[in-house]
Amino acid sequence: MALLEIQDLSIAFGGVQALADVSMAIEERQIVALIGPNGAGKSTLFNCVTGIYRADRGTIRFGGEDVTKEKPHRVARLGVARTFQNIELFDAMTALDNILAGRHLHMRTGPLAAMAFGRAVVREEVAARRKVEELLDRLDLQFARDVHVMHLPYGVKKKVELARALALEPRLLLLDEPSAGMTSEEKEEMVFVVRDLARDLSITVLLVEHDLAMVRDISERVIVLDHGKKIADGAPEDVTTDVAVVRAYVGDEA
Ligand code: ADP
Ligand code: MG
Repeated sequence: MALLEIQDLSIAFGGVQALADVSMAIEERQIVALIGPNGAGKSTLFNCVTGIYRADRGTIRFGGEDVTKEKPHRVARLGVARTFQNIELFDAMTALDNILAGRHLHMRTGPLAAMAFGRAVVREEVAARRKVEELLDRLDLQFARDVHVMHLPYGVKKKVELARALALEPRLLLLDEPSAGMTSEEKEEMVFVVRDLARDLSITVLLVEHDLAMVRDISERVIVLDHGKKIADGAPEDVTTDVAVVRAYVGDEA
């Protein structure tokens, strides 16, 4: 059974068919790139999977469970974490606190439970802190730990957002253009970081990426969307040289 199974997913906004009968199955521990020209439906697919948009038709199963109509917090709890195309962080909070905020979604205990089960809450908080420190180390973010996010360079913010998603300890990580706006050095680092994460933490990754060289470096499989339709799905070296795919890209730039 695939970790993520999408069947005939369709959603329209007014007259725009953002996704049209899109199906795909992502196997556990795969790193899959989702590519396609602007407006192809990539972010919309992420929004459907994470419960932000409700699809018009089709089904989404995660870990065998039907999550087509689940709310975002439920999907997150089941183990789906994401980053956004436009960074969504709390600017006036430190990197540490932003990452902790991601972790708190994962905790079972709210304020009421805190009063009733004081010690369990303390234990969870300690575990949360430990996890966050571990992520700061892993992503080389200790220097940014106590810095307000608004003062951090763009590439570092992208990494903080990644750390926040990882704080959920997800099984599936959805990255929406993780390297956009990064320098080529930062991009190279991102490739290593994502590959290491997938390997060390058994995380399955679906990422939207425009840089085809990076796509070839990072992913073992590539899925292409164009105008809401899936037009290719296969090995990076085949897909990125596929005529229809190249045409979709050239058409976009023309
Ligand atoms: P991509 O991420 O591949 O660039 P999107 O998924 O953001 O593309 O968008 C696909 C299409 O759906 C676009 O035409 C976009 O304008 C439209 N769309 C996405 N979300 C909305 C929305 N909330 N309201 C209206 N149109 C939307
Ligand atoms: Mg997008």
